[in-house]
Amino acid sequence: MPRDLIDLHIHVGGAVAPHILWSIAHQQGFKLPVKNYFDFVELITSRPGKVGSLEDYLKILHTWTEKIQSSPSAIERSVYEVIGKEYRGSRVTQIELRFNPMKRNLNSELDLDHIIHAALRGMDRATLEYGVKVGLIFCLAREFDHALNSILVEKAIKYRTRGVYGIDLAGTEKNALELRPEVVPQYEDLFERARRAGLKCTVHTGETKGTGAEGVMAVVERLKPHRIGHGIRAAYDEAAMKLLRERDVVLELCPTSNLHTQAVEGLDELRHIVQTFWDRRVKFTINTDGPYLLETDMRREIELVEKNAILTPEQVDQTLAWARQYSFIPA
Ligand SMILES: [Zn+2]
Repeated sequence: MPRDLIDLHIHVGGAVAPHILWSIAHQQGFKLPVKNYFDFVELITSRPGKVGSLEDYLKILHTWTEKIQSSPSAIERSVYEVIGKEYRGSRVTQIELRFNPMKRNLNSELDLDHIIHAALRGMDRATLEYGVKVGLIFCLAREFDHALNSILVEKAIKYRTRGVYGIDLAGTEKNALELRPEVVPQYEDLFERARRAGLKCTVHTGETKGTGAEGVMAVVERLKPHRIGHGIRAAYDEAAMKLLRERDVVLELCPTSNLHTQAVEGLDELRHIVQTFWDRRVKFTINTDGPYLLETDMRREIELVEKNAILTPEQVDQTLAWARQYSFIPA
């Protein structure tokens, strides 16, 4: 009997099947640069070699998938399809799905509440059909100014009792891929407001090669998140791992994503990082990040770590127990 899996780190922008996006694009009369379906698949998926960095990866999201998902009916169908696919394909019975509603409203041409309600409808429909436990996380964007991110926090608080359980900080700025210690304080009040309102918090940081663990430490100290997206650079810094352990912050690891964006050099480095966290008692979970964009799913992520002797099956079970324990969705 295959085990029930949990995905705590999955972006709607990278998780909808190409044929669904193709169908949505046509339904909406969206102008695509290609006329052939297979050229479209090529356009919106990443492969090692095609995507060489986090920047390349995010460009696919910003240019195509997020725009195609920008209408109430498009986001409703997207959310619905992602949950069903994860359950059918990998027996994912608990999923925290994240997206930025403000990257789905065509620069304020569409009403944000309509987008959010549509996403909640998609979530409700899938929950009813598959019995999966689902929650949404709203992603703040590093490239947004404080005022825009502040609106996102308010919306997350407004929908807190409807299934929006947390906020995240994601995205990129040109030449500022990493959340550097000096840029962290500008988010402090936003995260404090979210926490005080009862939301849980996670932050993307420590996922870029060539950066140190200072960004991870600054995030933990100033933003006080419950979890961290990636955080793999912390494996090279004892002080950062000590801090993660003391503050009981859990890492959301996404193995294939890190291999594709070359955040890690290869399986050997990935093994070193994961085993270092295990040895230092830093808690972590295994996640997909963007299953279709990265051509993976939860089942394949688990296979990847087990088959390459990165984790034993017993260790994988422990990561699933942590995922359940540290999920933002109330028990
Ligand atoms: Zn992510």
